[in-house]
Amino acid sequence: MSKRYFIHTFGCQMNVNDTLRMSEALKSVGYAATADFERADLIVLNTCAIREKAEDKMHSALGRYRQVKLSRGALIGVGGCVAQQEKSKLLERSPWVDFVFGPDAIGNLPQILERVGQDRVRVVDTAWVDSEEYVFPRADAETSRGKVTEFVTIMKGCDNVCAFCVVPHTRGREVSRPFVDVLDEVARLTRVGVREVTLIGQNVNSYLGGISFAQMLLRTCEVPGVERVRFTTSHPHDLSDELIEAFKVQPKIAPHFHLPVQSGSDDVLKRMRRDYTVAEYLERLARLRAARPDIAVTTDIIVGFPGETEADFEKTLQLTEAAKYDGQFSFVYSARPKTAALLKEAEWGVVPHEQKVERLDRLQALQKRISLELNSQNVGKTLEVLVEGRSKTDAARRFGRTPQNRTVNFDGDAPAGALVEVKIERASASSLGGVQGRMLSPAPVKIDEAPADAELCVA
Ligand code: SF4
Repeated sequence: MSKRYFIHTFGCQMNVNDTLRMSEALKSVGYAATADFERADLIVLNTCAIREKAEDKMHSALGRYRQVKLSRGALIGVGGCVAQQEKSKLLERSPWVDFVFGPDAIGNLPQILERVGQDRVRVVDTAWVDSEEYVFPRADAETSRGKVTEFVTIMKGCDNVCAFCVVPHTRGREVSRPFVDVLDEVARLTRVGVREVTLIGQNVNSYLGGISFAQMLLRTCEVPGVERVRFTTSHPHDLSDELIEAFKVQPKIAPHFHLPVQSGSDDVLKRMRRDYTVAEYLERLARLRAARPDIAVTTDIIVGFPGETEADFEKTLQLTEAAKYDGQFSFVYSARPKTAALLKEAEWGVVPHEQKVERLDRLQALQKRISLELNSQNVGKTLEVLVEGRSKTDAARRFGRTPQNRTVNFDGDAPAGALVEVKIERASASSLGGVQGRMLSPAPVKIDEAPADAELCVA
């Protein structure tokens, strides 16, 4: 009987993507996934260092998994950004951890396990490959069989220096993947039924893999079988005219742009080292909307950055009203190791935790109202939906997304992978509900709708 592994994933879509690559590496040496960590022979935590809370959650999960080590001798590994940041300190703090590996060492998992299992040593593999010699882990197309939508990595690392961000310290410098390699991977995915791809990287707009990012998007749209192309994530200062033009000319580029603004105050943006003003940001947003009027825009906001005054925060509320975001990922600021903001926070002034939480509540209430207003405008309309499977809340219903990335739960029987029309009957701040109408195009392959990647536990 094969050994079983369980991966607990924290953080962003980059980490979700890394978890898929970890799964492939483990399957290549005979491991099978389990959704039950108590039955696992190997538990891997794929960690996130972007906020203190995610790191705290990781340590408390690690404490839980220690019991599985004691009861059945499971191996425990820690990967991702906290692993890269803490290295051997993690082994000192948690003596039951067997190995620590960084984002660039995912492909080394088979060798790491061999050393841990056979040589009985604890391993730390956090070497970086910050050069064009880096070989991007390639998704095994067979692992993607049965999926409608898939991530494709086009770059890693980040050359920006945002004052709050630990990513340049955990993911290294930017390295772009050659475009030919990206297109080849997309073609292999569509051959097994994938219809939507998300090009992923820390800052995709600064992609330099032989062609520009806008050209990369356009070339991806031309791969036979591709219906929709998405991407994440972008820095506003890299939002080029060429990219805006690509939205205008190619309808397969999904009309959704995640454009992190972080604050509505120029003073705060300056301390954050974001390299744009609110006026510049809004001007780019206006040009984007002029090029693609149906585009949905989402953003990230940090509340309570050091020195943020009530007046600064009011400007963030005003920006939220002005930009009319479809959605927002907002968080209270937490100091991260090695960042400029940590060094300067005493000088700039720490915002008390209760004040941060109170501001976050106000911001989220405002965004909820705006999201509900925007979603409600869809009631009575017929929208195109790419079906992803059964609804997560009611297995008798179907679930899919509109081109704008709006979640739709609906009555119908269309299989995963089909493109259908859905008449929208109701809306909440986070999703739409409706009834299936005309079939626009059938699923290219039959998809088994048993929950895929049961091991994927995202915190
Ligand atoms: S652009 Fe800024 S926030 Fe985004 S990963 Fe790079 S340093 Fe971090």
